Amino acid sequence: MGRIHVLSEAVANKIAAGEVVERPASVVKELLENSLDAGSSRIKIQIEAGGKKLIQITDNGCGMVRDDAMLAFERHATSKMKNAEDLLSISTLGFRGEALPSIASVSRLRLETRTPEEASGTVIEINGGKIFKVEEAGVPTGTSITIRDLFFNTPARKKFLKAESTELSHIASLVTHYALAHPDKHFELHSATNAVLVAPPVSGYNERVYQIFGKEVLDQMIPLTAVQPLEHVGLPQPPPWRRQEGNGNETAADPGELRVHGFVSKPEIQKLNRNSIYVFVNGRLIHDRLIHHAITEAYRNILPPTVYPVILLFLELPAEEVDVNVHPSKTEVRFRQNTVMHDFVRDSVRAALMKARPVPHFITEIAARPTASASLTPGAHMPEPHAPLYAPLPAHDFTLQAPVAPVASERFYFSGGISVEGNAAVSLAREPSVVTGDNCTQAIAEVPEPANDAAPSLAMLKPLGQIRESFILAVNDEGLWIIDQHVAHERVLFERILKQRTAKMVESQHLLMPLLLELTPAQQALFSEISDELANNGFEVEPFGTRSIAIKVAPAGVDASQVEKMLYELLDQIAKEDQAINMEKVRARIAASIACHAAIKVNMPLEQNKMEWLLAELAKTDCPMTCPHGRPVVLRYSMKDIQKAFKRI
Ligand code: ADP
Ligand code: MG
Repeated sequence: MGRIHVLSEAVANKIAAGEVVERPASVVKELLENSLDAGSSRIKIQIEAGGKKLIQITDNGCGMVRDDAMLAFERHATSKMKNAEDLLSISTLGFRGEALPSIASVSRLRLETRTPEEASGTVIEINGGKIFKVEEAGVPTGTSITIRDLFFNTPARKKFLKAESTELSHIASLVTHYALAHPDKHFELHSATNAVLVAPPVSGYNERVYQIFGKEVLDQMIPLTAVQPLEHVGLPQPPPWRRQEGNGNETAADPGELRVHGFVSKPEIQKLNRNSIYVFVNGRLIHDRLIHHAITEAYRNILPPTVYPVILLFLELPAEEVDVNVHPSKTEVRFRQNTVMHDFVRDSVRAALMKARPVPHFITEIAARPTASASLTPGAHMPEPHAPLYAPLPAHDFTLQAPVAPVASERFYFSGGISVEGNAAVSLAREPSVVTGDNCTQAIAEVPEPANDAAPSLAMLKPLGQIRESFILAVNDEGLWIIDQHVAHERVLFERILKQRTAKMVESQHLLMPLLLELTPAQQALFSEISDELANNGFEVEPFGTRSIAIKVAPAGVDASQVEKMLYELLDQIAKEDQAINMEKVRARIAASIACHAAIKVNMPLEQNKMEWLLAELAKTDCPMTCPHGRPVVLRYSMKDIQKAFKRI
């Protein structure tokens, strides 16, 4: 009957060793993973005093027979693997057989468990690792584990615990993310005073995001799915004569495929840290630098380099492709095909961003500013001077906070002396004193609003004029648009330069007089690293004396007077990068820099045909919504918002 066994010493020694019980959240993580591994569809967690006083987790999973329940508290006792080979393809969240004994040794633990086949179950009580009660009892099927007084016998560790609210917010974040990963299961998390999370089963991931975070967050996220078949890279293949065996067409087992689904945020969402990036690999929440890097790459030239998106990614791949036995907390993994994985994530995220072409909405853009808070983490935000709305841990503070204060933005002066502040659209929309109720409210011809995930279209934009010779005002069926003429042109040029560079057809111009630049030794070193790339981008540069260079040819479109500034800026930017020089990045930087210096400026009058040309060119770009430095290019005031503001809907 029993399923649990103690691993042999040889196998146990192969497992990444170390303590996993650091804080209440790590206890919850281990117990939650056990409940999920036990096939539960309903998991309820009760917390008191941030988990310091009580952690109780009740599931309706497979339960344990009495002998197993006793064995579960032995070190290296597990039902999830037997031999060292199993370590190569782990499909459960647990496998070390160490969590229960570790937790039991530093707390007062009570286990109640029953399998569906048995009439009665087992109760075990353990104090600081010593079993003092084992009895048969009538308990529900499934397992309930109650942990009281965590670290009561290890005061040194107890001292390191953070405030109760901090510990609770870590637990809440963890449970929330497991709930997101398993929309088909029922999750509940209660503190002594609050129902922190109650999430009954729903039919899919979208529904789950909506259920936990609400519509606003869902609207700010772009859904993503992608699949890529794997190849037999590096896997030992049977020799050809063996492959012919059987019914003749048996080749090596199908290597399977990589799958990803989840959500990535639109560019107007900007976070100051990575706390809102959540990546699951085969259902396991992990932190992985490779995946983080792939995400940063995907957002390159869409988000400014110092801010981060909100990401929820679920990666699925054959268990043999990923090694989870790297770190005792099981939050690190190693992918067998590192580069394939990296590029797959980067390309899938990038493709989703390109497809959605998310255009900052007038109001959301105005409300958006980088926030330091971990948006998808209930309550785990840093105190923000501008955000007094947040109580220490409100029950449903799961929102991707639309920050309260508008960005301290510039004032735009419309001719005629009306000044419109950043949040004007918001206050207009809420202004109640508009005359309505008469017969003059004629319905406006219905224009189909684009569905939320459909790409708003820049096509058919008709320019009306400029605001202060800097921003183009344009309309189409979708509403009113404001386009920053400088960054719009920058985006157009940036993509054109990259394309020309790839096709080796860069346009350049001879300078009337060679331009002499003096370089410091550090700049010289950098310069020699990127000089080939500069040449590929239309520069012709020769050494001139020991410390100087002479520029004879520069990229077309850049004013000769700007070339010097541009090169110094470029060297500066590259010097600031903390990582080794990456040629692809350098290429993008050079293109962005040329684009910036060649683009039309603000405060420049544009004739109608120039504006039309610019908008048409912008519509053709891959990524018309943000400039290569990540700033927004266009704002849209949708037909719906306009109608709402005029109280027509
Ligand atoms: P691991 O999860 O690495 O196997 P644990 O110490 O967490 O090690 O658990 C030991 C064993 O106890 C598990 O392998 C599993 O068989 C059993 N177990 C633990 N929690 C549960 C649960 N909630 N429901 C059913 N069985 C459980
Ligand atoms: Mg476990």
